[in-house]
Amino acid sequence: MNAEFPVTSPGTTETSDEGRPDLSNSNVREDLAMAGRCALVHLPTGRTCLLPLRHKGPCEFHRPQEAQDIVAGGS
Ligand SMILES: [Zn+2]
Repeated sequence: MNAEFPVTSPGTTETSDEGRPDLSNSNVREDLAMAGRCALVHLPTGRTCLLPLRHKGPCEFHRPQEAQDIVAGGS
């Protein structure tokens, strides 16, 4: 007889707030997110992902100066 204990897998905290839950994450620059960008910040380098929101594949992190250009509205 196997004694199977119910295993609660860690990391399944579901925070289903309305809107974008990732915006509540401090790792996202809101100004860039408003501009329709992924805006994820790579904290160790301070770089920001400038790819479109919900882009496929991994993030591409760019220098804060490049991010600032997008926030400034360079079309
Ligand atoms: Zn990204």
